Amino acid sequence: MATTTTPATAVATTERIEEPALGQAVLMQPGRRTVLLVEDEESITAPLSDALTREGFDTEVARTAGEALALSGNARLDLVLLDVMLPDGSGFDVCRELRRNSRVPIIMLTARGDETDRIVGLEIGADDYIVKPFSAREVVARIRAVLRRTEGSDRTDGSDDAIEIGAVRLDPARRSVSLAGEAVELSRKEFDLLQLLMANAGAVVPRERIIEEVWDTTWFGQTKTLDVHVSSLRKKLADDPASPTYVHTARGVGFRFAARDEVVGEGGR
Ligand code: CA
Repeated sequence: MATTTTPATAVATTERIEEPALGQAVLMQPGRRTVLLVEDEESITAPLSDALTREGFDTEVARTAGEALALSGNARLDLVLLDVMLPDGSGFDVCRELRRNSRVPIIMLTARGDETDRIVGLEIGADDYIVKPFSAREVVARIRAVLRRTEGSDRTDGSDDAIEIGAVRLDPARRSVSLAGEAVELSRKEFDLLQLLMANAGAVVPRERIIEEVWDTTWFGQTKTLDVHVSSLRKKLADDPASPTYVHTARGVGFRFAARDEVVGEGGR
């Protein structure tokens, strides 16, 4: 008769999961952002969503392109972290699809060293990319930087007048760019880069200043990234990198947008 089957000291640390007091569980932080993480690798999604949660983001995970598109119907998304390699397709296709009717900030997660991937991503409208492997900290920093730029950044440079140099016209107020009258689709960062260069047309803008103003000082792999953006920008402006009309390289220093009289051609008037 085992009357005393009570496992006396059954490792008394029965983890009491704290029940959150109702009031605080639903503590809605104003400005809490929702990030959609599109990635099939659990080894990435698990720690990353933990980190994002810790940093005050709400996270949704989609493991396939299909899921991502289904979830993207959610109007509350503030940013999408989008892996290129998905089991049922390419993150690029998801990006293109999203861009059809959404300007939600998109950060692509790309494989190390694949420059083509990065350029393609930026060309189809991604706002930024992060190269694998990355730390959660880096991702959070990038997310913050992109959100800062895309949300608060109706950059109050004071100058809302359109800038026109050669065939390129940039309208800061409408954040639009055209080349010989044809609209040019730029990512946000490309636009900021172009605006900075055009506002300083004729003068070399040092790389450090570009990185500071267009990106964020918290950013690591900047240097290379800047080059990727410049090359993408040149492509969109039909600029020949070997002998550019608009975006000139000042080797080791920075970049210079052509001055007005440089591109107007002989005389001009
Ligand atoms: Ca993947």
